[in-house]
Amino acid sequence: MAMVGIIFGKFKLKYTRLDIFSITLLICLWIYPFTLAEMGGQLSFLLSFAILYLYRGSKLLLTTLKMILVGLPVICFYTYQFNWLTLLINLIFVPIFTYLILPFTIISSLTVGWPLWKIPNNFFGWMYGLFDKIAHAKNLIFVTGQIPSFWVIILIIIVLLYVETKTLRNKYLWIYMLIFIGCVAMNKFPLFGSVNLVDVGQGDSLVITTPLNRKTFMIDVAGKLRFPMPSWAKHETSNQVDNSTIPFLKHQGISRIDKLFLTHKDVDHVGNLETMLSKFSVKEVNFGIGLENNPRIQAAMKHHPEVKFKNLQQDDVVDTGFIKWRVLWPKTKGIGENGDSLTLLARIKNKKWLFTGDLDSESEKEILKDHQFQADYLKVGHHGSKTATSDQLLSMLKPKVGFISAGVNNRYGHPNKETLKRLQKHQVQYFNTADYGMISWYYYFFNNEEKITTFLKGDLVENSRTKE
Ligand SMILES: [Zn+2]
Repeated sequence: MAMVGIIFGKFKLKYTRLDIFSITLLICLWIYPFTLAEMGGQLSFLLSFAILYLYRGSKLLLTTLKMILVGLPVICFYTYQFNWLTLLINLIFVPIFTYLILPFTIISSLTVGWPLWKIPNNFFGWMYGLFDKIAHAKNLIFVTGQIPSFWVIILIIIVLLYVETKTLRNKYLWIYMLIFIGCVAMNKFPLFGSVNLVDVGQGDSLVITTPLNRKTFMIDVAGKLRFPMPSWAKHETSNQVDNSTIPFLKHQGISRIDKLFLTHKDVDHVGNLETMLSKFSVKEVNFGIGLENNPRIQAAMKHHPEVKFKNLQQDDVVDTGFIKWRVLWPKTKGIGENGDSLTLLARIKNKKWLFTGDLDSESEKEILKDHQFQADYLKVGHHGSKTATSDQLLSMLKPKVGFISAGVNNRYGHPNKETLKRLQKHQVQYFNTADYGMISWYYYFFNNEEKITTFLKGDLVENSRTKE
C-alpha cells in the first residue's frame, strides 16, 4: 500500500487514502483473485481499512485494542480460537517485518554469500521459532467455537464504527462485547447434548457431550495402521486427530475432554493417543482392566503425568450427571484384544446407548448371560464385522437405530453384508460413516426432541421419522 502511495506521489496525483486502499486491493485481486476468500487476505485488508478510519488522536494502547477487536471475529470464524498473546504479537510483528526483516531480506538477496548475514539470519530463525511456540502454546489458547457468519459481519460493522470514536468506553464497545460474549456463551453452554461419530475413515472416534455446563466424553481416538514401506515412499501420513477430531471439538467450542474411554489396543482405536494427549487437554483416560500393561498406554502414562489413568471392569458405574455409564465388559483382566473391548451402556437423558468397541459375539454372549437390558441406539460393534452384533444381542437390545463407523472401500469389507442383513431382519435402521461422513445425534435439555444429522448427505431423522 505504501508503494502505491509513493508512486502516486511521484506523479503528483491527487488522491485520498481510500483511493490508495482501493487500488491496492484491485491490484491484489488482479494478481491473486482469491485474496479476499482467505483469512490472511481478509485480515490484512480489514485491518488496513480500519486504520483509514481510526480516530487520529488514539493513543498506542487504544489503537492496539481497537485493532485486536477488528481482527478477532475473523480469526475466530476461521480458527475457532484465539491466542491471548498472538493478537499482541501480530501488532509487534508488523513494524518488525516492515522496518527490519523486509530491508534485511532485500539487501541480503543482493549480496548473497556475505558471511556476516549469518548473524541476522540466526536471529530471525530464533524469532520465528519463538512466535511459533507462543502460537501453539495450549495454555494461551482460548477456544471460542465457530461464530456464525451473520454475527461476524455485524461485529465488523460495529467495530468499524467503534474505531472512529474518540473514547475507550462507549455504546459500540458494549454492543460488540455483548454479541461476542453471547456467541461464545452459546458455544460453551449449549442447549443440546450430542453423540457424534467423527468421520475418521476406518477406525473409531466418538464424541459425546451434555447440555448446559457441558461435559465432553470421547470413546477412542482412531489411528492408522502403518505398513512397512521402502524408505523413498515414506511420508508423514495424515492423522485423523489433527484433521478431523480436534477441528470438530474446537468448532463446537470444546477445550477439554473430561473422560476419554479407550476400548482396546488396536491401532484404529488408540493409534492417535499420543497426538490427542499432547495437542488437547484431557482430564482422565479410562480403559478395560489389563490394558494398563499395554506398551502404548504405559508410554502415555509416562509422558502425561497431568492426565489421570484408570482401569474399569464389569459393573463399575461412572455417574456424570446427565450421563450414567455402566461398564458391561471386560469381566476379568485382559490384554486389550477385540474380545476384551470396554463395553459401555450409557443412559443419556432418557435414552440408552450401547457402545461395544470391537467386541466379538463370544463376549457378547458372556455379557448377555449376566445382564438383561435394552438399548435405543447401538454403536454397531467392530465396524459392522460379521463376528459381532449377533442375532441374540439384537433380539434382546431391540435398538431403533444402529451407527457404524467404517472407512470408504476399506480392506476388511466392513460393514459385512451378513451384519447388515441381521440389522434389517431386526428392523434396525442404520447409518454408516462411510456413506454419510460424520453422523450426529442430538438431544435437548428442555424437551424430549431428538435429531440425527449427517454431514455428507444432509439427511435428517427426527424422532425416528426418516426422510428418504
Ligand atoms: Zn476396530
